[in-house]
Amino acid sequence: MTVPSWVPIRDELRNEEPYGAPQIDVPVRLNTNENPYGPSEKAAADIAGAVHQAALELNRYPDREAWALREALAAYLGHGLTADRVWAANGSNEVMQQILQAFGGPGRTVLSFAPTYSMYPEYARNTHTRWVAGRRREDFAIDVPAAVALVEAEQPDVVFLTSPNNPTGTALAPEELRAVLDVAPGMVVVDEAYAEFRREGTPTALELLAGHPRLIVTRTMSKAFALAGGRLGYLAADPAVVDALRIVRLPYHLSSVTQATALGALRHTDELLAQVDALRTTRDETADWLAERGYDVAASDANFVLFGHFPDRHAVWEGLVDRGVLIREVGPDGWLRVSIGTPEEMQAFRAALMEVGPR
Ligand code: PMP
Repeated sequence: MTVPSWVPIRDELRNEEPYGAPQIDVPVRLNTNENPYGPSEKAAADIAGAVHQAALELNRYPDREAWALREALAAYLGHGLTADRVWAANGSNEVMQQILQAFGGPGRTVLSFAPTYSMYPEYARNTHTRWVAGRRREDFAIDVPAAVALVEAEQPDVVFLTSPNNPTGTALAPEELRAVLDVAPGMVVVDEAYAEFRREGTPTALELLAGHPRLIVTRTMSKAFALAGGRLGYLAADPAVVDALRIVRLPYHLSSVTQATALGALRHTDELLAQVDALRTTRDETADWLAERGYDVAASDANFVLFGHFPDRHAVWEGLVDRGVLIREVGPDGWLRVSIGTPEEMQAFRAALMEVGPR
């Protein structure tokens, strides 16, 4: 895409594409790491009731600080967190952009380790922050000595670590995070969008918040919480870091409808998270099935599996779409990512992949 010359867009944006996975209407959608199980009728009715109450006051601006929601999110996270240590926005995408608006910017650097979430360089571009990407190891783990050396050399204002990482599913060990925290001069962000899916024994970075005031842990209700349509992301950090973010946020950025929806969903936490265990089991079964058929499979703590290698991954992706199964063409060359769906959806994926075969 090229923006026409009469549209006075910034030069560096003229040939850019709007970000997004293809939204193709096929029966089996396993491409954006959503929870395949929607809220029950009861939960939906409760959320609708909360939204109804909010609707009666839509003439008023929402609570600018979203206190009730932040209290509920802090209670959900545990670890002794309180509302002043939690911040929320429209998806963790907005949370991350606010982080770069506050801590990045012209003359500043954000560092991450590729392959990783493809939106990070876009947040950097949009906030005029210099983007530097180190490489992960062959097994997609962070190469700690190389990472430490790169942080020391680049002195980044912000480091993005992702655990579990998208698109690889790789979790970050606490000693790896500690090594980066020890040398990073600025903020260290651990993006835990998929944290609820982590395997037994994989810790969360929330445990390191006490004692590391420049650590930020971001989460989202889009994945395990089955609320991608609600657009609610959040973070936990030191209260002074939260206050820094309040400086860059737009006034009333979280609508009263969004706040009511998220609060309604949080009242049904147990139900909405009920399928997480089943999804983890299906994830492990999917990884085993792929490995048994000779594919390379990245070890995953998330609700997706990266597998390869295909000489022509696009042909495989297309073959699956032709059979009504949409997965994601993302990550290093030759690899594909499949989100974990219902057992029926995974059966359709397996059947389609068998037909398409290795290309
Ligand atoms: N971080 C990671 C690693 C992701 O994969 C995603 C969604 N694909 C996000 C953040 C953003 O999610 P949301 O804006 O829906 O919270």
